[in-house]
Amino acid sequence: MTDPKPKPKKPRGIARLLADTCIACGARCQSVCPVNCVEMTDSGEPIIDAVKCIGCQKCVKICPASALEMYFTPEELKILEQLAASAAPVEEELDPEAAAIAEKLAMYRGVWVFVEQTEGEPAKVSWELLGVGRELADKLGVELSALIIGKDVEHLCSEAFAYGATKAYLVDAPVYYHYRTEAYLEACCHLIGKHRPEVILMGATGMGRDLAGAVATRVATGLTADCTGLGIDDKRNLMQTRPAFGGNIMATIMCDKFRPQMATVRPNVMPMPEHKPGAQGTIVRENFTVPEESILTKVLEIIRDNHSKSAVDITGAEFIVSGGRGMMSPENFAILQELAEELGGVVGASRSAVDAGWMPTDRQVGQTGKTVRPKIYIACGISGAIQHLVGMQDSDMVIAINRDPQAPIFEVASYGIVGDLFQVVPALTKKIRELKHKNS
Ligand SMILES: Cc1cc2nc3c(=O)[nH]c(=O)nc-3n(C[C@H](O)[C@H](O)[C@H](O)COP(=O)(O)OP(=O)(O)OC[C@H]3O[C@@H](n4cnc5c(N)ncnc54)[C@H](O)[C@@H]3O)c2cc1C
Ligand code: SF4
Ligand code: SF4
Repeated sequence: MTDPKPKPKKPRGIARLLADTCIACGARCQSVCPVNCVEMTDSGEPIIDAVKCIGCQKCVKICPASALEMYFTPEELKILEQLAASAAPVEEELDPEAAAIAEKLAMYRGVWVFVEQTEGEPAKVSWELLGVGRELADKLGVELSALIIGKDVEHLCSEAFAYGATKAYLVDAPVYYHYRTEAYLEACCHLIGKHRPEVILMGATGMGRDLAGAVATRVATGLTADCTGLGIDDKRNLMQTRPAFGGNIMATIMCDKFRPQMATVRPNVMPMPEHKPGAQGTIVRENFTVPEESILTKVLEIIRDNHSKSAVDITGAEFIVSGGRGMMSPENFAILQELAEELGGVVGASRSAVDAGWMPTDRQVGQTGKTVRPKIYIACGISGAIQHLVGMQDSDMVIAINRDPQAPIFEVASYGIVGDLFQVVPALTKKIRELKHKNS
């Protein structure tokens, strides 16, 4: 009797780049390679060392542009064909690392939204996040919960239910009256350890940014700040989209090996969900408190910022008339102010106008300014750089006034007026005045 022929080993192949397909996503392929055989060129494309590659396929799987493939020699292809044709099923090699990660991730379920409040007054962004949180929870087939921390804040649970949550984790104690990182961090981490949510969303506000960073560090997970889009992929990963490289590309970031997945979103980026008064949910009261003596930060006095009180909050305005470098000087903003007043709105600005000192920082619209969603946004002498567009493109109506017909602002405009703003804006103001006068 002769020994049976040894079964040929399944070839693993080597990874290779397909021409003209890499989108230079930020070296994801390099970051996952377990044997460090991927180098990046100056233009952000990978060079794979074929000798070192062990054919694990990690880079192929992670590439968002399907720019990588596994290459097999003709001999290897033959073996693959033989194996496929043979009756005996080929035993797939189990990747123990992947199996351990999958087991760990499966322990986390549910979408949480941190409900930010100051002295019991909720921040609107929390409700906006419940809107997108509901979509994520439905896609994942899990519960949407609100995380409410504060003193005498139980009333926020019913508001959270009205905006779509079905559960609220409530931590209510005097120590949480004023926001202090240490106390809120302990409460958050206690709840995360106990209930293991897979997604946590927070507002990209002063409080949200501070808390999210501290929590992500403590629980050793990833955090994507200032997301402009959120979705779920087919492996339950949170797809977190945000501008990158100075706003020149939109990057989709994933945290596929750690949980919870954490993201912050700026106010006004997500639409407000429908408010359904009387909606019911479950309140989970957590009697977790932090000894006052263990908190180093003490609030001695609250000094209200009178400047910010008198400052204009452009984020809530229904009508915004914004000026850019085309305004030429600070005095010229008076014509925008007149138009804004006729409309009952406020004046905004591009970063160029703010950098030139023509308008205060709190009027800046865009990536490093405010995100706005007015009913009407009138852009005057603004070219429409991507960093400006990300802050206003979700306005119900955009009217652009620019003397350059090729200006990119016209691509997002509902109505475009090609002309000199110093003629168009006063003419608009005059017309509105006449119409108002006629109707009064
Ligand atoms: C990391 C980063 C973050 C940024 N964040 C922001 C941000 O938050 N917000 C922001 O706005 N920018 C931001 N920018 C800057 C952005 O890239 C642009 O430089 C800026 O938006 C341009 O401002 P502008 O449109 O006013 O000026 P310009 O690009 O100089 O455009 C002026 C426009 O006015 C028009 N014009 C001139 N005179 C007249 C006239 N008489 N009548 C009609 N039209 C006229 C011109 O045709 C031109 O289109 C950022 C940049 C970077 C790198
Ligand atoms: S297949 Fe695996 S080993 Fe080869 S380059 Fe890609 S990640 Fe590295
Ligand atoms: S993961 Fe894909 S898109 Fe990203 S750098 Fe590598 S090859 Fe290019």
